[in-house]
Amino acid sequence: KRASREYRQNESSVVIVPTPNGDVAIGENCPLAVVAGPCSVENEEMIVETAMRVKASGAQFLRGGAYKPRTSPYAFQGHGESALSLLAAARDASGLGIITEVMDTADIEKIAEVADVLQIGARNMQNFSLLKQVGKQNKPILLKRGLAATIDDWLMAAEYILAEGNPNVILCERGIRTFDREYTRNTLDLAAIPVLRKLTHLPIMIDPSHGTGWSDYVPSMSLASIAAGVDSLMIEVHPNPKKALSDGPQSLTFDAFDKLMVQVNRMAQVM
Ligand code: PEP
Ligand code: MN
Repeated sequence: KRASREYRQNESSVVIVPTPNGDVAIGENCPLAVVAGPCSVENEEMIVETAMRVKASGAQFLRGGAYKPRTSPYAFQGHGESALSLLAAARDASGLGIITEVMDTADIEKIAEVADVLQIGARNMQNFSLLKQVGKQNKPILLKRGLAATIDDWLMAAEYILAEGNPNVILCERGIRTFDREYTRNTLDLAAIPVLRKLTHLPIMIDPSHGTGWSDYVPSMSLASIAAGVDSLMIEVHPNPKKALSDGPQSLTFDAFDKLMVQVNRMAQVM
């Protein structure tokens, strides 16, 4: 299998992402790569401001959804195509690489014009036609773990992308469904880090925001991820989480993110 460690003679893959601020390497033994930004792109002011603030705190990538996979069809679905030009404006202003989700094969081309990394969301982890199409793209793919996917299901999903010729896949654990939803939105599987490290050469990311559902738990899970050897973190950050159009409860303020980045850098240094 192409995702297996043996396929690369035990050598870890490094995904190099060209961004306006220069190439960013994501993988084992690379500096920790941090992706930060709102759940959804809401307007130009908020996305540009967020980009500048998270960059100042040390992030390399800006995240933000234009096309949103919402559980309810009546919930905010994202601003779609118009949000792509707002992401482009934030990219120009900050020089950060852009990561945003692709939900439909029909949107790949226009999203790839602004995104430096294409995200496949948890709900589309086994959308095989989408996986095959992004496998033909010349852009790195961030593949989130499905809500109820085993590690093998997830690695097989990665295989669909790799088999089409795109070797640049990053695996992102974002919490799985378990019996307890009282205190956490999902159960963040931090053991996935050493397990994946054993099984695959692909870079590993943790998303403690969706992984826990609550901003209070994001710092401890971020630091624990670094201790477990993660290559990259994805953190939701919003200028005013209480007013966010999606995922406010799990989003950090600029100040909380800045404080976390001080701890993250300290933790990364001792690893
Ligand atoms: C997201 O990152 O915005 C998102 C919707 O995440 P997930 O697919 O992990 O739920
Ligand atoms: Mn979200």
